[in-house]
Amino acid sequence: MTQIAYLGLGSNLGNRIRHLNVGIRLLEKQAGDVLRVSPFYESEPWGYQSPNRYVNAVCELRTELQPLRLLDCCKNIERQAGRKNKTSDHYEDRPLDIDILLYGNDAIDCPRLTIPHPRLAIRAFVLFPLSDLIPDFIVPLTRKSVAQLRDEITDSSDSDRVRPLPPLSSSSHSL
Ligand code: ADP
Ligand code: MG
Repeated sequence: MTQIAYLGLGSNLGNRIRHLNVGIRLLEKQAGDVLRVSPFYESEPWGYQSPNRYVNAVCELRTELQPLRLLDCCKNIERQAGRKNKTSDHYEDRPLDIDILLYGNDAIDCPRLTIPHPRLAIRAFVLFPLSDLIPDFIVPLTRKSVAQLRDEITDSSDSDRVRPLPPLSSSSHSL
């Protein structure tokens, strides 16, 4: 059965836009059909200190992979983009991070995978690009739309740390 999933991509090392575009191309080859890609945003590292800002985007994927197979696929693509295994339990700089934000209307909680992504509702760098694609989608377990969650976080101190990149940086121009 096919499902629509939303994946959050981030990069804060090397040619960040290129890493995101490579990730999107590899998702096309290995995970399903990438139907849409949000505009690209730039954000401060979240949850840890680093001088390297992130470029973030969200892609809409039509996939036949079950959630855990999709997670394996995302991890493989991160490695293909040059990501090394974690050296600590903390957040670290990386050329490519791919998180599964949503998988249809599913709510999943197992040791390796939680969907909706557990920090989706508190991350401006996720909510801005996600609301560009599906503002009215009601996020499972929250009873709130993506746009509502985005507006709530805009009132908090987090939102000024995310800004759109100029359109020329978006995926369609820099493959
Ligand atoms: P980060 O939290 O910095 O993104 P990783 O990308 O290394 O760290 O992910 C750590 C682990 O989080 C993964 O190995 C995966 O098992 C787990 N995880 C749980 N839920 C999700 C999700 N929705 N999407 C991606 N990874 C998830
Ligand atoms: Mg991750």
